[in-house]
Amino acid sequence: MSKMDTIPTSSATGGLMTPAGLSPEDLFDKCMALAKNLWWSWQPEVINLFRDLDPIRWRQLDHNPIALLAEFTPERLDMRAAELVLFTRINHAYRRLKEYVSETTEWGHVHCGVLGSKPVAYFSLEFGVHESVPVYSGGLGVLSGDHIKSASGLGVPLVAIGLFYDQGYFKQHLDMDGFQQEEYIDTKVENLPMEHARGKDGRPIMIEVETRVGKLLIKVWLIRVGRIKLYLLDSDVEGNSPEDRELTSRLYGGDTRTRIRQELVVGVGGVRALKALGIAPGVYHLNEGHSAFATLEAIRERMADDGMSFDEALREVAQHTVFTTHTPVPAGHDRFDAGLVEEHLGPLRDELGITFEQLMGLGRVEPQNQHETFCMTVLALKLSRRANAVSNLHGYVSRRMWAHLWPWRVEEEIPIGHITNGVHVQSWLAWQMQQLYDRHFAADWMKRLGEPEVWQGIYDVDPGELWETHHTLKNFLLAFVRRRVSRQCRRRGESDEAVEAARNMLDPNILTIGFARRFATYKRSNLLLSNMDLLDEMVNDPARPMQIIFAGKAHPADEPGKRLIKNIANLRHDSRFAGKIAFVEDYDINVCRHLIQGVDVWLNNPRRPLEASGTSGQKAVLNGALNLSILDGWWAEGYDGSNGFSIGCGHQHVDDSITDVRDAEELYRVLQEEVIPLYYNQNIDGIPLAWVKRMMNSIGSLAWRFSAHRMVADYVHHAYLPAAGGVSCKMHFP
Ligand SMILES: *Cc1c(COP(=O)(O)O)cnc(C)c1O
Repeated sequence: MSKMDTIPTSSATGGLMTPAGLSPEDLFDKCMALAKNLWWSWQPEVINLFRDLDPIRWRQLDHNPIALLAEFTPERLDMRAAELVLFTRINHAYRRLKEYVSETTEWGHVHCGVLGSKPVAYFSLEFGVHESVPVYSGGLGVLSGDHIKSASGLGVPLVAIGLFYDQGYFKQHLDMDGFQQEEYIDTKVENLPMEHARGKDGRPIMIEVETRVGKLLIKVWLIRVGRIKLYLLDSDVEGNSPEDRELTSRLYGGDTRTRIRQELVVGVGGVRALKALGIAPGVYHLNEGHSAFATLEAIRERMADDGMSFDEALREVAQHTVFTTHTPVPAGHDRFDAGLVEEHLGPLRDELGITFEQLMGLGRVEPQNQHETFCMTVLALKLSRRANAVSNLHGYVSRRMWAHLWPWRVEEEIPIGHITNGVHVQSWLAWQMQQLYDRHFAADWMKRLGEPEVWQGIYDVDPGELWETHHTLKNFLLAFVRRRVSRQCRRRGESDEAVEAARNMLDPNILTIGFARRFATYKRSNLLLSNMDLLDEMVNDPARPMQIIFAGKAHPADEPGKRLIKNIANLRHDSRFAGKIAFVEDYDINVCRHLIQGVDVWLNNPRRPLEASGTSGQKAVLNGALNLSILDGWWAEGYDGSNGFSIGCGHQHVDDSITDVRDAEELYRVLQEEVIPLYYNQNIDGIPLAWVKRMMNSIGSLAWRFSAHRMVADYVHHAYLPAAGGVSCKMHFP
């Protein structure tokens, strides 16, 4: 590196060559290249680089670097870089990106064998990679995003397929009465890191899918997520009818007809897109049943290309298909009636040479039962030789739920295993915490995130240092909440006093509980509010008070969910809770990141066993927050008595209302007898040593296990490699 690199120039030299020998145009191109691979979104140095260019606009633009750079001319960028001495940092980041994408000696390059030439094709209806790319709604999307980021980090050969929604999911605001308002905003395509996917001939790919009532045209976008290519299909194409152009505009919008058409696009269109791209997958991974039509198109391909019969092709495709189920309740699975199925799958069925009843049979538990609708989960289970749930407990629940598909087997032998979900560490770990780990963990810890030994370094950290870092993050969170809540007040047109009060709400020295999730009834967002007098006592305890931060969206059609939000939001008018219980609007990846990095306790109280896994608590672990949770989903296998808190002991009554009462009592008891005393038992330096010990136990025992690196490695060993090699099914992996 030339020593000239570090010498700042005055802004007067803008337009001339920069010290690093870059023209302003080159500099701009390098920044744009960084912005166009979402790798930047888990690199603190690159994030800080973008933020430094214009901290206020950075926040206002939803942390979107392309939108930010669009506000700069190359000359202005050059001047700004000179002022801040950014040249070395830009060059360094650019070089690291180039090295990263061309690296060929990662774990996956050694361990993935046959996948190298025949990659995994990972299908999902949503991908949550970063808040600036709004093609996700919640947990399922964030899981897909974390899966492909870890696949990138590990060097696992994988391509991802989803849909591009130009309006994404709704933005949430509350009105004066606390009622949720939904707003759909057109995403500016030019501000997204997308390009047209091109075929071998260099021309943009266009896919066609026939239905009985006409054909759909689909274009394909490419987003780069580190080493992974994410292809998003989009029906907003000239030549489609106005309705079809809007088919993929909203995530989970529209009726069942919209839904089956979206699923036709992602499944059948997805397999055709891979073909057009010249990619021959060795494994189809269906993340949830939404994309299960992919298997039918893959069968058609085998029949057409290899001359197989339908039955032979089906066996072949199933051998190479991995299915992950996420839904523990029968009502949560997509079902379509016969008319919709024939309208959309009819032309494909003709090519498969099967009858309408045969096709319907693939989506029915009892193939002959004409009263049964077509279930995407049943299709996925029948057309995959490897199926898995997303936690140990969810494995039991899924085997029981689908036992009738294999009536000749005992429940333990239902072929649904489990691979517990995990989170992408670099995306959720606060920078300050990462720096702390850098000082105490092995030098290569970032490459070995899924290994337990790596995380034992947490016990070498000084408790005071860990506590102080946590406090810094807690202060960031409180500043964020005050900023957001005061902005919410202003937007609603509340009084100046209300806005001012929001600017001063919450106190960093008070035990802070976070609860943020979809406002689905089973998640019981109001469990903590079931005894308001007791809650009042606890929040306002003079010696050992408590404060709570809530966030979450309700599905637009979910009236009970919206009422729950309203109840919580309106506590700000209750003098007992004003300034002590906050509701942050528009829960998304950004809000989630702030919350899980700054709270003391992350609360999770679903009605067991309905939380298939849950991942937000895993994100909290990385940053030292302690989980307080029902023994459901991942926590049922994560909690060991010393690494967080459990609500109850994993029992449930057959009557939900009794379970709810018991769980609420238990929640209050654990708070009063365990959480609060432990937190406020602080030494003369204000450090709660026993609490910090528990933070260390949490990080040391859970971070590796519930990392997406561990999860993806499990998929490679237990699902991808056996499926790619056509090895017969091993029933219950991990
Ligand atoms: C992680 C995450 C979720 C999933 O969290 P759960 O624990 O499953 O509720 C949902 N939404 C967002 C925005 C997330 O980041």
